[in-house]
Amino acid sequence: PQRIFSGMQPTSDSLHLGNYLGALTQWVALQDGYDPIYCVVDLHALTVNPEPAVLRERTRRTAAQYLAAGVDPSRSLLFVQSHVPEHAQLTWILSCLTGYGEASRMTQFKDKSAKHGNEGTNVGLFTYPILMAADILLYDTALVPVGEDQRQHLELTRDLAQRLNARFGADTVVVPEPYIVKATAKIYDLQEPTAKMSKTASSPNGLVELLDDPKVVAKRIRSAVTDTEREIRFDTAAKPGVSNLLSIYSALSGRTITDLEGSYEGKGYGDLKKDLADVVVAFLEPFQARFHEFLDDPAQLDAVLADGAERAREIAAPVLARVYDRSGLLPAR
Ligand code: ATP
Ligand code: MG
Repeated sequence: PQRIFSGMQPTSDSLHLGNYLGALTQWVALQDGYDPIYCVVDLHALTVNPEPAVLRERTRRTAAQYLAAGVDPSRSLLFVQSHVPEHAQLTWILSCLTGYGEASRMTQFKDKSAKHGNEGTNVGLFTYPILMAADILLYDTALVPVGEDQRQHLELTRDLAQRLNARFGADTVVVPEPYIVKATAKIYDLQEPTAKMSKTASSPNGLVELLDDPKVVAKRIRSAVTDTEREIRFDTAAKPGVSNLLSIYSALSGRTITDLEGSYEGKGYGDLKKDLADVVVAFLEPFQARFHEFLDDPAQLDAVLADGAERAREIAAPVLARVYDRSGLLPAR
């Protein structure tokens, strides 16, 4: 079966609906017929300089959310990035194959660093896509289920994989493909429906967090930004807010956008928002119950992560050894 690899950053206490619909739902579905590896990418989260105790807690919470969403450790390998030192080691090799100009073209870096200015931006944020390439290439990954915002980073990963193969032999690493499901590839901020929903960039009212109080979530959906028309119609250019609500509604209910447009004909935005809030809350309540079961059993959670790390190293170590050897590094004997 084809290898799947993906990860999320523990940059917040809770994942949000964009993470869930854009990626996590696909992760769960790909457990059938594939060989998946899902990672909590805590090294990436260091780019926001978290408090140590907060990072540790968020790493556990992120893993517990994967499990609550349906990631099943008997079918998926689940681990924490920093438990497998090969990620940082391969990053160095890839860094030396990445052009400075090439790295400078990454739009996520431009967006994130613009907020902090030159002095407030760390080099880790700049090299983040190279660490991400290492994450993926270490596992001979075929498919990477992610949201649309990761497309450019995936393209860099592919370029680096091809460069390694051109320099050191065609079978050095596997060149991965992105797996991006169009309908949910980009869930937008409720208050700013042309910007993606983001753990670190969205304002609280723009987010639907999976672990928020359902009452708060319902209120945020009811106050989502729409437009001054009345018509409930999917049109991302003219009606980004309404279209985003329809996308979320469709993904969580399994109803098509056309079906939803039909059943809201002649109704108002208030009706749509109220019903969507009910759909979201009906999803969140059991999700949160499962999350707490996993979080409240840290011994079991840590055992799952320890087992995952051990199995991950067994896969990553020979891949790194292959790249080290072909790069001309003298073997330690
Ligand atoms: P941060 O603000 O810290 O970058 P994030 O919300 O972008 O957080 P990540 O941990 O960077 O979340 O990304 C985890 C996964 O979720 C990735 O596959 C990413 O493509 C996907 N994702 C993130 N935001 C969205 C979104 N708004 N819509 C769809 N997918 C998303
Ligand atoms: Mg992100």
